[in-house]
Amino acid sequence: MKSIVFLGLIAFFWSAKTYAQNSQTNYKTKYVFVLVIDGPRYSETYGEPTCKYSPLLCDSLKKEGTFYADFRNNGPTYTVPGHTAIVTGTYQRISNSGTALPKQPNIFQYYLQASGKDSSAAYVVASKGKLDVLVNTSHKKWHNQFVAPTYCGPNGNGLGYGRDDKTFAKVTELVQSANPPQLMLINLLAVDVYGHANNWDKYLESITQSDQYAAKLWQMIQDNPVLRDQTTLMITNDHGRHLDGVRSGFVNHGCRCEGCRHISLLVLGPDTPKGVEVSEEAEMIDISTTIAEILHFEMPTSKGSNLRAAFPKK
Ligand SMILES: [Zn+2]
Ligand SMILES: [Zn+2]
Repeated sequence: MKSIVFLGLIAFFWSAKTYAQNSQTNYKTKYVFVLVIDGPRYSETYGEPTCKYSPLLCDSLKKEGTFYADFRNNGPTYTVPGHTAIVTGTYQRISNSGTALPKQPNIFQYYLQASGKDSSAAYVVASKGKLDVLVNTSHKKWHNQFVAPTYCGPNGNGLGYGRDDKTFAKVTELVQSANPPQLMLINLLAVDVYGHANNWDKYLESITQSDQYAAKLWQMIQDNPVLRDQTTLMITNDHGRHLDGVRSGFVNHGCRCEGCRHISLLVLGPDTPKGVEVSEEAEMIDISTTIAEILHFEMPTSKGSNLRAAFPKK
């Protein structure tokens, strides 16, 4: 009899301990959206002393969340490799033309497998058609498994470059629906395209335009009762652009200079402290590791660390 009571006590304490561990990671977040603004240089966004080109992100939105001031792309500073690092948690040399699949599985695949949800629970909506490679992988075990739907490029078919207003219309449709995706990545291209076109004024205008898209997206989340108080929004970049004096300056990117490497991350959501600025370095591969933790799935192939300041343990 004594030993039964003893075993019962052990079972009680063990389950209490397990409960405590689980409740530690009981985040309010059920939806995660990642907005990637393609290719702005830090010196024209948060690094601009008066923040005049992105006044919303630099002020009202930043006060709502946790901001990583020293956020880095530590891999190849191009569009497809940058986005690949975000969704797989690994840096890899992958074609920037959309002709190859990432070598490692991505957050969408791991999430769909773990959650058992319909594939439309994950989504990639991108102005650049070539980004439809983000939902699949050449990894033997994962190739063509748990592939999320995409709407990439002007017609959503993975070809060409579309306008950001059209991309945002698709985002609006999904975010305002009764059943929004739980995990979605969005890419807006105008900043990058006008940079390559050597059009300084349009490049700056596009930074301001994407600032407004970010604010609109956050507002739409607040306006949807399904998403409000359950959604984390991460606003980041795939790469920066060369510093002035490095090669062609703002017109291009792709090297290891500070301008190409220094990007940014702003995290908004119900689990994230407001008005916090993190000065320690963090990097784009940390995004996938963090999403895996908050949405409760394992991502063994990701090499990132948790963005703990944005998601403190309770
Ligand atoms: Zn580019
Ligand atoms: Zn550079």
